[in-house]
Amino acid sequence: MNNEPGILYLCATPIGNLKDISLRVLDTLKEVDIIACEDTRNSIKLFNHFGISKPLWSYHEYNKYDKAEEIVEKLKTGSSIALVTDAGTPSISDPGEVLVKKCIDEGIRVTSLPGPCAAVTALSLSGLNTRRFVFEAFLPHDKKERAEILLQLEDETRTIIIYEAPHHLIKTLKELEDHLGDRTISLCRELTKLHEEIKRTTFSQALSYYEDNPPRGEYVICIEGKDTENIKRQNEDRYREMPLDRHMDIYLKQGYDNKESMRLVAKDRGLSRREVYNALLKGKDKGE
Ligand code: SAM
Repeated sequence: MNNEPGILYLCATPIGNLKDISLRVLDTLKEVDIIACEDTRNSIKLFNHFGISKPLWSYHEYNKYDKAEEIVEKLKTGSSIALVTDAGTPSISDPGEVLVKKCIDEGIRVTSLPGPCAAVTALSLSGLNTRRFVFEAFLPHDKKERAEILLQLEDETRTIIIYEAPHHLIKTLKELEDHLGDRTISLCRELTKLHEEIKRTTFSQALSYYEDNPPRGEYVICIEGKDTENIKRQNEDRYREMPLDRHMDIYLKQGYDNKESMRLVAKDRGLSRREVYNALLKGKDKGE
């Protein structure tokens, strides 16, 4: 008898276009003993399309803890199990996360068959910086938690990715604009589908657009991170408008000596210390 535990296969499924399923996922779904699905009614359409007929177990948000135990027990008996969620990569903003953790805790091997993921698809299309990004999934509904996250996002310099349902989109865009200020964003819906739409816009433009065109479909919002260079430039401009001696006074009054004040003033204005020194001398010559 084989005492080896089975393997949990995380099978990525299409986020819209059925042709995005991989050959490896199809092979695996045909080979495993059981397929755990977030919504069997949803997944059955996919399985019928590809001629897959296997015992289906329902594994969703509301039974994820109890069912994870059951799945792990079954894996321990040597059964192989595939996990598919409603769309995309299991465990990315769906109940799969709990099952993966449980399997790891219990020493069960988990492997991933990568494929579509709405967050990565949207990011790659966003036209925003993709080198550094942060994924927030859905913002929490709990008021306090939500406020904390929004506050943290205010100074985020990486591109931010958020999932949102159509009926919450406007409220979320408003809150984001209030906290982050008007920013360049990319709003993606119906990704990989016939009516795929990517709106490269700003919070304010999007909000005025949705006043007359109610949002439809599931969205991924990609938001430009806070631009530190821009902030630095704005500060430099603001300081440059200030007379040099008044700027020096700010630091002298704080107790810095002349040399240190000059260094700080130079830094604020994006100048060298020598430039500040010369400008101050010139001012004195002119009796300013
Ligand atoms: N596990 C999935 C993945 O890998 O992307 C995400 C699951 S999460 C419960 C569902 C959310 O993903 C939706 O509310 C929407 O924000 C986003 N999403 C999924 N499919 C999408 C699509 N075709 N176009 C735009 N957003 C999509």
